[in-house]
Formats: sequence, structure tokens, C-alpha cells
Amino acid sequence: MRIGLRIDVDTFRGTRIGVPNLCEVFVCHGIKATFFFSVGPDNMGRHLWRLLRPAFLWKMLRTKASRLYGWDILLRGTFWPGPVIGKRLAGVIRDAAQVGHEVGLHAWDHHAWQAHIDRMDADTICRSLDWGAEMLSELLGHPPICSAVPGWKCNDRVLKEKARFAFRYNSDCRGDSIFRPVVDGRELLQPQIPVTLPTYDEVIGRDGVSNDNYSEYLLGLLRPGKLNVLTIHAEVEGIVCLPMFERFVGLALSRGHQFAPLGDMLRESPRVIPSRIVPGEIPGREGWVACQLSSPCGTEK
Ligand SMILES: [Zn+2]
Repeated sequence: MRIGLRIDVDTFRGTRIGVPNLCEVFVCHGIKATFFFSVGPDNMGRHLWRLLRPAFLWKMLRTKASRLYGWDILLRGTFWPGPVIGKRLAGVIRDAAQVGHEVGLHAWDHHAWQAHIDRMDADTICRSLDWGAEMLSELLGHPPICSAVPGWKCNDRVLKEKARFAFRYNSDCRGDSIFRPVVDGRELLQPQIPVTLPTYDEVIGRDGVSNDNYSEYLLGLLRPGKLNVLTIHAEVEGIVCLPMFERFVGLALSRGHQFAPLGDMLRESPRVIPSRIVPGEIPGREGWVACQLSSPCGTEK
């Protein structure tokens, strides 16, 4: 089976350390994937502390957050303004593109998007996308061809603003098949490539899933003949969980599976159906995420 592989890069540390680590693993195995970069200020420390509510605290303990993210991420942007990732680490982003990975926009300010999206108006959304797209255009020499909002925090307003940009596709939701989003009764041109598989932090420590059986568990979720898309995080699989991720890649390849950038999944998709996005919930993840209507997480409320 072919697994669409997407790497979300949320922080300065993930960009500086996680991305080169993952690129090395990918070179080793001849894998190409899609990197979604956060390029503006890294204020993620604010995000993680804001989430210190009971449900999240439990998750922090379950995943040992300081080990998973590192103290510098937890503190970044809390006492001083965060560094602008695209300025300080331009070379890392450029290198990922130059070795043939697909590169898209994740966020200008990952923290601000996750914290404020519910209250962001069309102008604010457009500005945030524009700053991110501008920075990536400068780095890559062309506008980014795809995008993926932080934390699957997407709504119809975001979809309408994204339509102004030159994205060939977006990956803003969880779901089970490639679709064209319908907003206000109109089918938008940019297809959505939803993420179908759970992330590491959603499954680890639940239902008996541990680092030891994670690979088997994840491979068991692949669906033959259907869309399979996995998100990993540069901060997690690229740093502290790197050995585990390498084992997963090795096992997947030894069973004849292949990894591909999301753009390849789109090219190979026989048909792109119309659908809508609705807010839904994912086990092991706090708060709402955008879900493809009528996929397991997306039901009309
Ligand atoms: Zn992210």
C-alpha cells in the first residue's frame, strides 16, 4: 500500500533538529514526503502552557511532554518573543525542498492560529496565510503549492480565504478520501487531502499501544484500496521518537508498503468527490478538529 506521508513542523527546535534528522532517514530509504513548515515567530511555549487543563495535563504525563517536546519548546515565546523560524532557519527549509521533498505552508504563527482561529475574521486569516506564503516564496523562489492548517483547525471561512492563494491542494482536516470542499453550496477548486491515520500522541498510552507495538498497531490501521495518509511531527518523530519512527519505516517497507508526498496521492486519485468539513472530535486529542463530513469523525451536529 502507498502511505501519504506528511511532516508537520511546528517549532524552531523541530525545524533545526527534527527536519534534518528526518531528511537523513528519508535519504537512507529513498523516501519523498511532504513537509509543512511554520515560518513565522515560534510562540509554541505559550500554546502548551495555555493547554494546562486537566485533560491536557493527563496527556502531558502520559506522553512525558517535557521529554517529548523539550523544555526549550515549552518555554519558547512565554517570557520573550519567539524567533522567526523562516529567517533563522531558511537553509533547513530550502534543503528539504532541494532534495526533492514537497514543501507547503503550515502556519505563520502556529500558536496564534490554534489559540484564536475561532475568533479570526476573514482579513486576519488572509493576512496570516499571506505572511506565511510570502516567507516561503522568498525561501523557495516560488509560491508554496500546498498548505495544511495547524491542529486541523479549519472552517469554511479558512477554506474561502485559501481559495485566493495558488495552493494546488490543502490538507486541513481528518477524513477518509480526497474531496473538493463545498462551501455555501459552491464546490471549491482546491482539493482536500485529509489525514486518515492517528498521530503518535493520540494513540500512545491508550488501548495498550506503546513504543514497542506502535509500528504494528499503525500498519494494522492501513486500509487496502483506500486513501492512507499519516502525519508525523518534526518535534516528536524527528527527535525523541526518531528510533521508533525508523523502526516503523523499516517494517512498513519490508512489508512492501511505500511512502509518498501528498501531491502524489492526489495525482493517483481516481476521483475527487464533493464533501463538506464539520467540527468533530478525535480520541486522544483535545478540542475540535475539522473533519470530512460522513467520515468516522465527521457527523452533522
Ligand atoms: Zn502543527
